[in-house]
Amino acid sequence: GSDELEVGGSFETPPNVRRPRKQAVDGDDTIAPQLPAVLAEDPTKSIDRRTPLQQPPVPPPLASPTYNPVTMDDPPESPENLPEEEEVRETENTDIRREASATPSKGEGAVEEDDIAEDVEEFGQDRPYTLLGRLGEGSFGTTSLVMDERNNELYVIKRVVCASVEQANEALDEARTLSKFDKSENIVTLHDFFLDVRSKSRSLSVCLVMEYVSGGDLADRLEMFSGRVMPQAEVLHVLRQLLQGLALVHSKNFLHRDLKPANILLDEAGAVKLCDFGVASLLDCSGLQTMIGTPMYMAPEIGTGAYGKAADIWSVGCVLYEMCLMQRPEFSMISLGEVCDAVARRGYEAGVLSILKSCLARDPLQRSTALELLRMVEELATS
Ligand code: ADP
Ligand code: MG
Repeated sequence: GSDELEVGGSFETPPNVRRPRKQAVDGDDTIAPQLPAVLAEDPTKSIDRRTPLQQPPVPPPLASPTYNPVTMDDPPESPENLPEEEEVRETENTDIRREASATPSKGEGAVEEDDIAEDVEEFGQDRPYTLLGRLGEGSFGTTSLVMDERNNELYVIKRVVCASVEQANEALDEARTLSKFDKSENIVTLHDFFLDVRSKSRSLSVCLVMEYVSGGDLADRLEMFSGRVMPQAEVLHVLRQLLQGLALVHSKNFLHRDLKPANILLDEAGAVKLCDFGVASLLDCSGLQTMIGTPMYMAPEIGTGAYGKAADIWSVGCVLYEMCLMQRPEFSMISLGEVCDAVARRGYEAGVLSILKSCLARDPLQRSTALELLRMVEELATS
């Protein structure tokens, strides 16, 4: 239709992007170009500055004992004297969130003695954290539920395995960023962080200790609907808080760069909190260029030149699309008009469609800001 053209603009295939399967016709109004082949393998996975640990990590020898400011371990032995490289432990990706308690029982989700023993090794004997179980395992490390023995409160430790000191410094950026949003309602709070250096296996990790958000993430929540429609009130509730969090991030001139359901946490009281600031970045006046994020949620301008806050808004549109249609945002070959029709058929009001259009405009300059969207959501929610 003609209004999609106004919103989406004309389609031009950027040089590094594969041609769409369907031939572009004059005035093609498809939402976004197809992903570059190199990114399309698993477009739901984040692309990061760090190198994913597809192989067991082979960390470099630690340079000197002074490098270990946290555990003050012995200096590494010379490579010949070191025991064989430890295998990376295959942990089951057990979801323990919904049954989490300070003393989980044996059975699914419960923690075996071995895990606890390993915890001592994993977080260091001088650390006051007891491992209760794994929440997830990503390409760069693990997230675990722990208890702080000093106050008996639950926290989450995100452990990022680093292959070099430079990577550890980059991973610490997440702590630096989170500390800028201390005690914000819609951004996960950082409680503590430390370096975990294990001279035996010569591994280095950055551990971030964060508040535990007990209701799982939005990806889990979406799975629970299995084909049913998420009520508009819930869609607007999540969107409103997501935008509140994002407006704050943008007000401090940061970009999140990896907004997607798995990085949006829900607590049992209904609060929505952004997490995973692992690739967040401070914006400079010329915009950012690096291709970082999760391909399926990545704005079309990423990889083709400078981008800014509007790239996060695109991802918000993808999340909204997913909440309304219960489908991954694989919409490279459909028009915004078709998307809106599908959303309307599911019973959502016109205001939801306007918000969607304001996020998924192909031209970043046409997208609304987080604050503008927040006003639209608030109006719709109270109408
Ligand atoms: P990664 O960089 O591996 O994606 P995340 O920070 O996104 O790391 O954490 C991975 C997963 O762990 C999230 O998708 C979420 O399900 C869960 N998670 C992360 N932080 C918390 C938290 N503070 N409370 C509860 N669950 C969390
Ligand atoms: Mg994540």
